[in-house]
Amino acid sequence: MEKVKTTCIYCGTGCQLWLKTKDGKVVDTKPVMPPEFNPGKGKLCIKGWNVHEFINHPDRLTDPLIKNARGNWEKVSWEETIDFIAAHFQKIISENPGNRRVIGCLSSAKCTNEENYVMQKFARAVLKTNNVDHCARLCHSSTVVGLGAAFGSGAMTNSIDEIVDAKVIFIIGSNTNEQHPLIGARILEALKKGAKLVVADPRTIPLSELAEDNGGIALNHLPGTDVALLNGIMNVIIAEKLYDEQFIKQNCENFAVFQEEIMKMTPEKAARITGVPKEKIIQAARMIGRAETTYLIYSMGITQHTSGVDNVKSTANLQMLCGNIGKWATGVNPLRGQNNVQGACDMGALPNIFTGYQSVADREIRKKFASVWGIEEKEMDDVAGLTVVEMMDAAYRGELKILYIMGENPVISDPDSNHVRLALQKPFLIVQDIFMTPTAELADVVLPAASFAEKEGTFTSTERRVQLIRKAIEPIGNSKPDWQIISLLAQKMGYSGLNYQSAEEILTEINQLTPIYRGITWERLQQDEEGLQWPCPDENHPGTVYLHKEGKFSRGKGFFHPVSFTAPAELPDADYPFILTTGRTLWHFHTGTMSRRSKTLNERVPEGYVEISKEDAQKLGINDNEMIKVATRRGEVRIKAKITNKVSDGLIFIPFHFEEAAANILTIAALDPIAKIPEFKVCAAKIEKVK
Ligand code: SF4
Repeated sequence: MEKVKTTCIYCGTGCQLWLKTKDGKVVDTKPVMPPEFNPGKGKLCIKGWNVHEFINHPDRLTDPLIKNARGNWEKVSWEETIDFIAAHFQKIISENPGNRRVIGCLSSAKCTNEENYVMQKFARAVLKTNNVDHCARLCHSSTVVGLGAAFGSGAMTNSIDEIVDAKVIFIIGSNTNEQHPLIGARILEALKKGAKLVVADPRTIPLSELAEDNGGIALNHLPGTDVALLNGIMNVIIAEKLYDEQFIKQNCENFAVFQEEIMKMTPEKAARITGVPKEKIIQAARMIGRAETTYLIYSMGITQHTSGVDNVKSTANLQMLCGNIGKWATGVNPLRGQNNVQGACDMGALPNIFTGYQSVADREIRKKFASVWGIEEKEMDDVAGLTVVEMMDAAYRGELKILYIMGENPVISDPDSNHVRLALQKPFLIVQDIFMTPTAELADVVLPAASFAEKEGTFTSTERRVQLIRKAIEPIGNSKPDWQIISLLAQKMGYSGLNYQSAEEILTEINQLTPIYRGITWERLQQDEEGLQWPCPDENHPGTVYLHKEGKFSRGKGFFHPVSFTAPAELPDADYPFILTTGRTLWHFHTGTMSRRSKTLNERVPEGYVEISKEDAQKLGINDNEMIKVATRRGEVRIKAKITNKVSDGLIFIPFHFEEAAANILTIAALDPIAKIPEFKVCAAKIEKVK
């Protein structure tokens, strides 16, 4: 057997693992052990241990496919397929002169930095549109906006290693032990060292019990009431003078206006809105306010709301208020769900920015990119493009004529998926993936991509750490790395600026154009086992463990945003009396494309379920494991009931991985007005017995 060291393809922790190969197949996985570097500290979670199981799965796409007039797939050569797609792009461009909104591209948080860079360059340099986005829109776009506005940088401020030294860890809207198990393991280590946990989550998650068993506090607030809870906590911290006055005076602005807003949310009022007893809010505030250091973790429980940006700004307010920024074991730490969602954002796979968060609206920035890309600045799109959900709506209206999707599965991942299915049937649809996903089934053309084990490149983990992935086997069948496919298309369309020979060559161009990645060269990544954390402005820079050191914020001063509570878009009523919230399980990943083809993972949790409280189940006469109907104003699913004490009365939870009981048939496409992230975490639902 041979073995190759690489980076895990599942969550954003960035664990290092060995892929073991035999006869051209990946047959086993082992963790990288100390003293070699591994953010997982010599461990892998259940997903990491079984990452090899999907790679050689018989369902892998091996050849390009074009749908014929009868709706059947026909295998075709690469040459014929590329000709076919290029002709469609050229036809639509010539039929819609000057209209930059008729074509859209979805990039992918599962692909490498280099592939995301190539996709956004293809959109901007070849198709001349900023209509490029990816699923960060659905998970952390509110982080990019909210932390960007407060601090000047929309990324995790601190690093995973610091967790073990925190005195208090405040976890809000993150089921860390199940979604980022090896970050969860560091929380357990911190507990052993005496740290206290404050856990706020609408469900009782494993960390809630750990918090209470170890002298901490668990708060079960109602979904969508995060701002009220955080403002209530900050109200107590200010009233009891537990805040860091000196840090605020030296490093922050707009405190007086912010304070005025906070003083309106008394703990009594916060208790009425959130459902958390006033005493617990006060206890949590004292624990955070008196701690020497508090490390704040959040995830999609904070971001996936119509108030997502406000929620994020509130977490930033709290950490500035207590001087918990720019120091070891502090910070605002949004955990990224997918392996490279941080990198896909960094690479500008978003409609308003180039790489490194450089604005498409800035002429000087456009000129810089145009000059390296060999195009005219005046040809470039200078207005932010459409987001994921806006592209689906434009497709539905018939305005988006071609959609090119790389490694995404919006039929399962996007809200209101019945609408998404209808929308995707209208444009010419190209899907590039490793498996025939429910989205690919709707396509006109399917392009077989190589998996992470079959190519080279880099991923950027949740802690801004850029690490290599290495090729263990040759691409399966006639599949190709995503960047090579895009390069073929660009060449066919007459553009030679995407004609790369290697991932290394692409990273060199990224270094040239991206100040925060300038010193993260291929050569250094090969030499440095630990990778490099951005910002890394030159080749001698060691990388940055935590941001905003000594209160020197990226935007100058930290900005206190006065944020007031607003209710979710759709609340329960007489017709739909339950709150539905959605999320993930330990055993599966995102839309299940990979994890459901892992025998070990799928055997453990082979089907979807809805969590319901014992009292609600009794009232409705529902038994455990009984098939029931859950419906919202968007649609309905038949799904097994799981009676549990994890959810309180009136709340139900469905994991979104399962196509046959797709939670996103039910969710609402109401958006945060700035980040345009959908409100996956709250909508009104009803439950019926199946007759
Ligand atoms: Fe992979 Fe995340 Fe598990 Fe680490 S914690 S092994 S990165 S899924």
